[in-house]
Amino acid sequence: MFDSDLNRKDVPDPRRRAFLGAAVVALCGAALWSLRKPHPLRTVAAASKPPEQVTIVQFSDAGERLKAVRVAKVVKSEAEWRQQLSGNAFDITRHADTEMAYSGKYWNLHDKGIYRCICCDNALFTSETKFESGTGWPSFWAPIAKENVTETRDRSFGMDRTAVFCTECDAHLGHLFDDGPRPTGLRYCMNSASLRFVIAA
Ligand SMILES: [Zn+2]
Repeated sequence: MFDSDLNRKDVPDPRRRAFLGAAVVALCGAALWSLRKPHPLRTVAAASKPPEQVTIVQFSDAGERLKAVRVAKVVKSEAEWRQQLSGNAFDITRHADTEMAYSGKYWNLHDKGIYRCICCDNALFTSETKFESGTGWPSFWAPIAKENVTETRDRSFGMDRTAVFCTECDAHLGHLFDDGPRPTGLRYCMNSASLRFVIAA
């Protein structure tokens, strides 16, 4: 999926190209942009404008699907997010940074439970779809409910990828790839720092 990007004329050194290719495939692309400064994702909505309404599916902490509800998007200022989150979680969720592989707290977690958004508590993933991807990031073959995550084309850093966001608060969660296991063939490559694990009681 990255061929067109890697064949660009401005990357003339084949060794560098090979390195880039390996890094992208093996490391979810993170090695490339983790060295760069986070960049702003979206402009914060004007305070006078009412937040957009979105549909999400609510889940209990035990992982039980409750109901679909219409809610106002969670919109906060940069200062408010910075106050609420750790520096790492702020950079990742609000500025699309990526944690280093094998550095997060959930890539090797196998407990049963659900993963909520670190920013707004929206339910995002369940241990039932978590799998061992070998990437060093927590990986899932499906979200807990398709409504709860939003996918957007991301062409940053010369790559053509799909970025994944929390529907309720626009937190950047990670990226989606099509090399996952059955039954979906999808790999939601997430940042641990974007998530809050709730262990099943
Ligand atoms: Zn959220």
